[in-house]
Amino acid sequence: MALAPLDHDALRAALEAASLRCTPQRLAVYDQLSRELRHPTAEDVFHAVRLTIPKISLATVYKALEALVEIGAATRLTAADGTGSARYDARSEAHYHFRCLRTGSVYDLPTRFDPALVSKLDPHLEEDLARQGFRVTGYRLELIGYRDQASLAAHPRHQAEAPSGPAIRPFLSDGNENQG
Ligand SMILES: [Zn+2]
Repeated sequence: MALAPLDHDALRAALEAASLRCTPQRLAVYDQLSRELRHPTAEDVFHAVRLTIPKISLATVYKALEALVEIGAATRLTAADGTGSARYDARSEAHYHFRCLRTGSVYDLPTRFDPALVSKLDPHLEEDLARQGFRVTGYRLELIGYRDQASLAAHPRHQAEAPSGPAIRPFLSDGNENQG
């Protein structure tokens, strides 16, 4: 149920509605991000986009990614412990992640998102929090562990390669579950 990436007209409209400029660089950054499978850092996007736009700077890529976050076309992912570079995700609908603690790569999980998971953990949690002044607007779930090197070699497309098509590949469905 991955949503198709935004086309350039939709992206332009969303940027301009937020008083943000729609530049060829920003379109290229979005296109690269929507093709990526492992939730790249700004540096990753910079190195990829530079192949087609040699004069683009890392600062421009950063600003483009933050503009995409601002209009909701991308999400910024940071590790729960605050370490490592921020990663970016062009997939807009709610989904779960797996983070490799060795490489920092983040993968989409093929599991259906459950909006009621928090109440299954604790049916009273949201009420209790509301009484204390906290309003829950959502949740994020990230599994952590290690992706073993053998599966990386066997399935290189889960690495930096960016095949066209929806930016989701169920990596746990290949029978090669990682060993921690
Ligand atoms: Zn994702």
